[in-house]
Amino acid sequence: MPDFNIRIPKGCACSGVHPGDYTNQVELKTPDHMLKIGNIGCLQFRETTCVDRCIADAVQALWALEVVTTGCCCGHNQVDGYIGVWEAP
Ligand SMILES: [Zn+2]
Repeated sequence: MPDFNIRIPKGCACSGVHPGDYTNQVELKTPDHMLKIGNIGCLQFRETTCVDRCIADAVQALWALEVVTTGCCCGHNQVDGYIGVWEAP
């Protein structure tokens, strides 16, 4: 299976942030191991990647292990969150 989601149980630090609301995001420099892939289907890696603040540490820990992430959401303390992970086929 080339990609899967790491599930993050509901209960992050968000308060009053709704899914689809981008106010609680941080913009991080996209790591080189992802930039050199360029794109996965219609997902285009750019110089920076926005991630939810609650899970920025977790995403950066995965990046440090050269894990490729395709998207993520902390769930904003309303639903379970996820980090999408991609493995080269
Ligand atoms: Zn959150």
